[in-house]
Amino acid sequence: MKDDNRGIVFIASSVVGLKIRVLGTHRPLQGSPIMAWAYRAEAYDEDDRFHRAVWSCDHAHDAPHTAQSCGEEWLASGAPIMAEDQAVS
Ligand SMILES: [Zn+2]
Repeated sequence: MKDDNRGIVFIASSVVGLKIRVLGTHRPLQGSPIMAWAYRAEAYDEDDRFHRAVWSCDHAHDAPHTAQSCGEEWLASGAPIMAEDQAVS
């Protein structure tokens, strides 16, 4: 069933011209000197010359692929249409 969603995601993202990218940042681990990677999903408009983000998730994902699916879920939820409206106004 999860795989079926991916097909829908692809169609949705191509209709609105939005793509998902994943950003990795360092974040401090609590109580540890070691820095951990945190990943965040961003959606950007493929047609935008500067590829400015129209949306980004406010999570700190442990792995790039979970951030990627977070962004794909956002695309599938229909949120891109709202984001497009905001970008126009
Ligand atoms: Zn997320």
